[in-house]
Amino acid sequence: TYKKLTIDLVKQIENQRKENGESILTFKFNKKRVRILTKLDEVTLHSKGIVYWMFRDARVHDNWALLFAQKIALKNRVPLHVCFCVPPKFLDATLRHYKFLLGGLVEVEQDCRALNINFHLLYGEPNNMIFDFVNKYKMGAIIIDFFPLKLPLSWVDDLKDKLSENIPICQVDAHNIVPCWIVSEKLEYAARTIRNKINSKLEEFLTEFPPVIKHPYVSNQKFDKTKWDKLLNNKLIDKSVNEITWAKPGYEKGIEEFNNFIKNRLNFYNEKRNNPIYDAESKLSPWFHFGMISVQRCILEIVKYKSQYKKSVEDFMEEAIIRRELSDNFCFYNSNYDNINGAFKWATITLNQHRNDMRDYLYTLDEFENGLTHDNLWNAAQMQLIKEGKMHGFLRMYWAKKFLEWTEKPEDALKWSIYLNNKYSIDGQDPNGYVGCMWSICGVHDHGWKERPIFGKIRYMNYKGCERKFDVKAFIEKYTTKAFTHKEKKK
Ligand SMILES: Cc1cc2nc3c(=O)[nH]c(=O)nc-3n(C[C@H](O)[C@H](O)[C@H](O)COP(=O)(O)OP(=O)(O)OC[C@H]3O[C@@H](n4cnc5c(N)ncnc54)[C@H](O)[C@@H]3O)c2cc1C
Repeated sequence: TYKKLTIDLVKQIENQRKENGESILTFKFNKKRVRILTKLDEVTLHSKGIVYWMFRDARVHDNWALLFAQKIALKNRVPLHVCFCVPPKFLDATLRHYKFLLGGLVEVEQDCRALNINFHLLYGEPNNMIFDFVNKYKMGAIIIDFFPLKLPLSWVDDLKDKLSENIPICQVDAHNIVPCWIVSEKLEYAARTIRNKINSKLEEFLTEFPPVIKHPYVSNQKFDKTKWDKLLNNKLIDKSVNEITWAKPGYEKGIEEFNNFIKNRLNFYNEKRNNPIYDAESKLSPWFHFGMISVQRCILEIVKYKSQYKKSVEDFMEEAIIRRELSDNFCFYNSNYDNINGAFKWATITLNQHRNDMRDYLYTLDEFENGLTHDNLWNAAQMQLIKEGKMHGFLRMYWAKKFLEWTEKPEDALKWSIYLNNKYSIDGQDPNGYVGCMWSICGVHDHGWKERPIFGKIRYMNYKGCERKFDVKAFIEKYTTKAFTHKEKKK
């Protein structure tokens, strides 16, 4: 039945797109979604195609960057190429992430083929590979999506420096509903300072997508065949962390989980999502993170349930729009998003004042990683992360805060929490992850609380508080067997 319901929803969404416009060529594209990164905005006359360099948003449908690329290609009457370049190493990504990503890209390739769009899977340093591709095949323009982490931003800068002046590069924010540079021109202080800036623009940006059409211009150039196998043999990938089983990659699987959420969990999402014992979260972060489904699409669908589940829909919108876009704002406007220098002033002062406070427990990174602390709840949460590749949202806060309490200095606490989150969490290497750790340890987007040892004015969380919130024992029981298995394995 789920399969059938998912197919129905996929079809229904497809029809909505068709009703919204025949083609992107005639569709009124909101230019504010685009940033022209080069001086030139005209495609050269002798161009043999347009490239959409896909990276953060690995989907064909509901993708403003791909739609914009098709618009330019149609205007110039040239073929459209989607290039995805898989880097040999990306932050702390492991086999778990690579497999999920590649699984989704297989579907992207199929979708592209059905639409006469050329899909190219490249492998190497993306800035160099895209540069080579564009020159070799005489591409006339590059459209890129938007990823505000330093590494992907540096690839774009490098490409911009190297590329000949007559090839324009345009960036389209296909990840956020309101483009990050339109929401605000500066670093925002908290959810309360960005909320209205986003909400006041939703009418303009929370709009239905048109369809990607079958591309009428095909290429007569010869291209290399996609070598899927080669990618996972790469020695730089950490293969000790294997794939997850509860979430399957790709657009259709993402829509299936979304449908599942609406049908089975949305009615108690507002009440139970902070309770790790209940299966109440949307669980959509893996697909959102890899851009396999569009948040904007999910919002367009979920608002239809507002009269039925008002509070749940509002809460989901707060998380998926406000909190998520706030994370992008933080990383885009604060290059220290991944270290203690990125903390706001009040937090830096308080962390420094309590730097030398006595810690009751001190653990090494290895002990944290293997769930060997004295706290069985913390260990169980770590096991959930290792085993399932996703920790419950409420426990993520508790988990990160304990690094501050049980390490020698805040710098290590932040570094280790980011590292383990990026390594094991399927939605890791995301602005949300950096901000989640910064919120927990450096009080980013939070405010000062009553002063106490080690934490100073940073919000504190403890075991007793968890016991008041949910059945801690049941959670530990669920994950402790797994904890032992893991520890035994380590020996
Ligand atoms: C220490 C720590 C680390 C985190 N690491 C990550 C990470 O690596 N990747 C990641 O996507 N999120 C991260 N988060 C944010 C949040 O915990 C997850 O987005 C959420 O648990 C994902 O589960 P879900 O999709 O079921 O969430 P839901 O509650 O169903 O929320 C729906 C969507 O809203 C967004 N969202 C929810 N909570 C937040 C939040 N606090 N901040 C920003 N966006 C949010 C996510 O895109 C999420 O998929 C982290 C939070 C903390 C405290």
